[in-house]
Amino acid sequence: MIYKTDYHMHSSYSDGRSAPEDYIASAMAAGLSEIGFSEHLTLFKEPEDWNMNPANIPSYINHIETLRNNTKNIKIKTGLEVDFIEGKAKEIDAFIGSLPLDYVIGSVHYLGEKTVDVGPEFYEGKSIDRLFESYFNSVSVAVASGIFDIIGHCDLIRIYGYKPSSDPEPLYRKMAKVMKTYDVAFEVNTNGRNRPLADFYPDRRFLHIFREENVPVCVNSDAHFPARVGQYFDEAYELLRYLGFNEMAVFDKRIRRMVPF
Ligand SMILES: [Zn+2]
Ligand SMILES: [Zn+2]
Repeated sequence: MIYKTDYHMHSSYSDGRSAPEDYIASAMAAGLSEIGFSEHLTLFKEPEDWNMNPANIPSYINHIETLRNNTKNIKIKTGLEVDFIEGKAKEIDAFIGSLPLDYVIGSVHYLGEKTVDVGPEFYEGKSIDRLFESYFNSVSVAVASGIFDIIGHCDLIRIYGYKPSSDPEPLYRKMAKVMKTYDVAFEVNTNGRNRPLADFYPDRRFLHIFREENVPVCVNSDAHFPARVGQYFDEAYELLRYLGFNEMAVFDKRIRRMVPF
């Protein structure tokens, strides 16, 4: 049996629909060996309803710890999905570095003051080439900040299906090289299948680049309710195996080890 983890899940501590304990049965049914919660945390921006209130972090951490201690047969990890905000790397690092977490997912949702996944209107009247460039650039800066263990949905800019005018392969190559240099994992985020682009992040046409550059991988659902935990994982693992990936990144107290699959 493959040792499967799902480190990207949102409970009602941020914008998920259910309490953390409600995710356990689905995770077991999906054959997962480990799950981890990764509530949204955005520092240095106006509070938005999809984010966890920083004042709730201690109760979140205690809640997950209690759940871990009371749950047999599946390991439960504590994580966060933290927005990368350019110019605030030091402050973000100091804040999350003080928390007892197993891993931190770094995600770029914001380009400027708006999030790229707020709706397709964000893209209207803008240069898609320019948006792709600045999104990939922001992800690379996030990787090089050294704050994060995993980068979330590294090409979220594809969410509404807008495509650049030229082949984006060089953007992926550059990003994968930076990930390798800074020893940061990427995720195959299966939730893209539920969004307008209707496929995984990152673009499967460029997944081989991450293999060639030897970037550590994990497979995550980005579930916002229990039924989506581990969703499409068989397909994701098959795809990774076909491309020559043979080990997965597993995290414990922010230390990574690689587990064969
Ligand atoms: Zn996200
Ligand atoms: Zn997420």
